[in-house]
Amino acid sequence: MEGILGGTFDPIHYGHLRTAVDAAQALGLARVRLVPLRDPPHRQRPAAPAAIRLAMVRAAVAGDSLFRVDDRELRRSGKSYTHDTLLSLRGEVGATAPLCLLLGSDAFRGFPDWHRPDDILELAHLVVMQRPGEAHPPLYRERHTGEPEQLRQQPAGRILFQPVTQLEISATRIRELVQRGLSPRYLLPDPALAIIRDEGLYR
Ligand code: ATP
Repeated sequence: MEGILGGTFDPIHYGHLRTAVDAAQALGLARVRLVPLRDPPHRQRPAAPAAIRLAMVRAAVAGDSLFRVDDRELRRSGKSYTHDTLLSLRGEVGATAPLCLLLGSDAFRGFPDWHRPDDILELAHLVVMQRPGEAHPPLYRERHTGEPEQLRQQPAGRILFQPVTQLEISATRIRELVQRGLSPRYLLPDPALAIIRDEGLYR
């Protein structure tokens, strides 16, 4: 079973990585695919160029076999729709392999407003990871399960709330620190921080 974590990763940080490891270990995910978004439909454009966000993701997980970096959204033009990404992934993994879309509870709150949410639930399960201070939004109750086994028994359509390490880290906070001339070290992997420095990002 495979996990997918999409994000702007502007920059990637330990709030993404540790929670993905928690989910992978709890659910027995063989792999977590990190998918940087090009042009997110629901928020401001990223501060850093796509190629550099991708380079930070690659640098952050280099040598870690749990993660695979997937740049398909950056190769596509136009808005980044998760639905399109899942459709193209389905074409690769086949109709029956379970896919788990990992997302923070803040992202899940906005999920009903995404492009074609019901179709997304035909393509993947959702694994919702609680962010500090965020309750689990009571959406799609009929799909909820507490049993990882149920995710294995069908390819898509269930929603599982996964307890994860509570890390109050956001990319916004990292960008603010850099902008104020302060160091964000230990909030993100050093190789990603080195790229922020080398490229002069977020100043
Ligand atoms: P920003 O502060 O720029 O909005 P972010 O830190 O929320 O960025 P994103 O790249 O937008 O990072 O997040 C990608 C995904 O990772 C989203 O589903 C988000 O909810 C989740 N996520 C981000 N940070 C955490 C965290 N600290 N704990 C759990 N999930 C997180």
